[in-house]
Amino acid sequence: TELKESCICCQEKEINKGVDKDSSTQHKPKPKSKPKNGGFIPALKQMANVAALPGIVRCLAMPDVHSGYGFCIGNVAAFDMDDEDAIVSPGGIGFDINCGVRLIRTNLSEDDVSDEETRERLCQALFDHIPVGVGTEGVISIDDDDLDEILEKGIDWAIKKNYAWVEDKEFCEENGCMETADQQKVSKKAKQRGLHQIGTLGGGNHYAEVQVVDAIYDEKAAKCMGVDKIGQVCIMIHTGSRGLGHQVATDALQKMDKAMYRDGIIPNDRQLSCARINSKEGQNFIKAMSAAANYAWVNRSCITYLVRRAFEKVFEKSAEEMDMHLVYDVCHNVAKIEKHTVDGIEKTLLVHRKGSTRAFPPNHPLIPKPYQSIGQPALIGGTMGTCSYILVGTDNGMVETFGSTCHGAGRALSRNASRKKLDHRKVMEYLKEKNISIRVASPKLVTEEAPESYKDVSEVVDTCHDAGISRKAVKLRPIAVIKG
Ligand code: 5GP
Ligand code: MN
Ligand code: MN
Repeated sequence: TELKESCICCQEKEINKGVDKDSSTQHKPKPKSKPKNGGFIPALKQMANVAALPGIVRCLAMPDVHSGYGFCIGNVAAFDMDDEDAIVSPGGIGFDINCGVRLIRTNLSEDDVSDEETRERLCQALFDHIPVGVGTEGVISIDDDDLDEILEKGIDWAIKKNYAWVEDKEFCEENGCMETADQQKVSKKAKQRGLHQIGTLGGGNHYAEVQVVDAIYDEKAAKCMGVDKIGQVCIMIHTGSRGLGHQVATDALQKMDKAMYRDGIIPNDRQLSCARINSKEGQNFIKAMSAAANYAWVNRSCITYLVRRAFEKVFEKSAEEMDMHLVYDVCHNVAKIEKHTVDGIEKTLLVHRKGSTRAFPPNHPLIPKPYQSIGQPALIGGTMGTCSYILVGTDNGMVETFGSTCHGAGRALSRNASRKKLDHRKVMEYLKEKNISIRVASPKLVTEEAPESYKDVSEVVDTCHDAGISRKAVKLRPIAVIKG
């Protein structure tokens, strides 16, 4: 059956609803007799099934892991490009191809936004500028030629049209464009779905959030990123490739089922549809996936354009005057060809990251020059009522997890359970008490996205830090959020 288009990240959780129930112990202690980690067993089974796929080198779970479609969310799966049996799988990437997070800094401080009236006005301005909600159409209109260019050129299209700043490009993973993209491999149906959704946030847990710096753990990294003052205002954006990416994944799954039969690939789980990397189906998917990834960078760029306009309206200063530079933009749903050392031997791998974030170490050639000494920033959302983090990559992470870390808190309650258990009014009161403004397109999101619906992001991030796969640099606290 075809899934609704809004956000597969959430839909995947819906499919496996209830799976993570036991991990909500931080909010309500469970009776001692119940196994503490029962909720992770479905995810572990999925890990085992992925570990049995042809050409697998390693399958790893990040601390925010929970089960998803075929592969779990919070998963890193690397396949050997030199093994002719090795596969690529849409389930290892997620339906929201290149769902990701970006952070924009400002030179405003909490004092500039702390009175309720200004904060509310800012929240409303963001809500007025950025189209949110499932199936919403964008205000930035494009034609078929624009779309083809977006799919192949990524952020360069947005720069050409003045939606992005030239310097934004250097601060996007892949410089905002995967060169393996081929728009001809994207179906008509996918293009139709993408034509009217550029510059739209989508539904579910996609958000634009105004945050302030709450703690600095690494002064050098914070200075380097220009996010180094307690109370400094930043904006975090979380969204992906919308209906277009979803359709690209759906199209590929259908084609791959036939190719698997032809090539005699029999995975342990039907959701693990895949194709040999070097087959026609595998290559076509990599080309279409890359095009969808490029669409997502343009989408986040266009939302950034709208954020900058909203801030200009409220503060009556230009975005340049407010130093609204892009700190970084990361993908957390994508597969990429990368070089890694495995047991002392350099290998070329296809690294699938689904609900996990690349976090390359200092001095890696693929991270921006200004960040060479600190490592790649990894942006980790928490919840609209708690906090979020900037981490940086480490040498140890490069060895242990192919340069990857977590991507968020991960859900503790399914959307259904959240709606049943939590009280809309209480969540709103909590946000008000914490001085957090909120605008949502769909009222049910207030309970579905309540802090109690998620695990404790600080625990997840501390685990990554203590394991040494990334380091904590900055903690951010929300003051205003808009959601689908
Ligand atoms: P996903 O990519 O799996 O859909 O979600 C990524 C993460 O975003 C979630 O695990 C959650 O921790 C985080 N998140 C969800 N909603 C919000 C929000 O409103 N604000 C912030 N800062 N993070 C959120
Ligand atoms: Mn996401
Ligand atoms: Mn998403």
